[in-house]
Amino acid sequence: MRLSDRLLDFLWPRKCAVCGGAVDRPGRHLCCDCLMRLPFAPTDGLCRKCGRDAPGLNGEFLCSYCADELKPAFDRAGSALRFEGEARELVNAFKFCGALYLRRDFADFLEAATRSRFRIGEIAFVAPMPSSLVNRFYRGYNQCRYLADALAERIGVRTVPGALRRVGNFRKQSTLRAAERRQNVKGTFAVTRSGARALAAAGKGKAVLVVDDIMTTGSTLSECARTLKAAGAGKVWCVTLARTVSS
Ligand SMILES: [Zn+2]
Ligand SMILES: [Zn+2]
Repeated sequence: MRLSDRLLDFLWPRKCAVCGGAVDRPGRHLCCDCLMRLPFAPTDGLCRKCGRDAPGLNGEFLCSYCADELKPAFDRAGSALRFEGEARELVNAFKFCGALYLRRDFADFLEAATRSRFRIGEIAFVAPMPSSLVNRFYRGYNQCRYLADALAERIGVRTVPGALRRVGNFRKQSTLRAAERRQNVKGTFAVTRSGARALAAAGKGKAVLVVDDIMTTGSTLSECARTLKAAGAGKVWCVTLARTVSS
């Protein structure tokens, strides 16, 4: 354990974010018992595009949602957790209430999900999902930036934090149905100058790994991927901390 961590632990002993008990894992805020009970997403029997699971299926398949409706522009997506129970509470606390101290725990989950689903050597750079100006103003931070930086450090790949930006206003995705969401996100991203430079420097066939907190229908990530590919990205992979269960 680093000296700074030991000093912080001495001054402010860490409590588990779920049960309030003691935590003995360095820099983490979840105890082992609560960690084991989190609803981690399965790693087998997944749609090869969006990563949704189908109970009873092994290996990979293409789900009907990807084939018939979403037709995602990303090549592959994966998530660490199911957005339910305690995982939902934790992700919401991180996203809306400034619980950024959870980022090391979340980086553990994202790293595991990334290593199980993607080939690290093929990732050119990591790009966080950009937050809208309004959200950044109210929250004061882009939570995906924290996730992207922590993950990139773990897997030894650089982050290009401002590779993408939001352009124009659109209605809040969470209030819309799946088909409306796809329409609503059209043209809402742009690749910035630093993004274009990073894409030009990426070798042929390399992937951009987009990091987001929650995947719902996948339409926002798909639009991100479409924008990156239009600007020259070879492959776009997406990893999210959690995915909603019913979509
Ligand atoms: Zn606990
Ligand atoms: Zn799918």
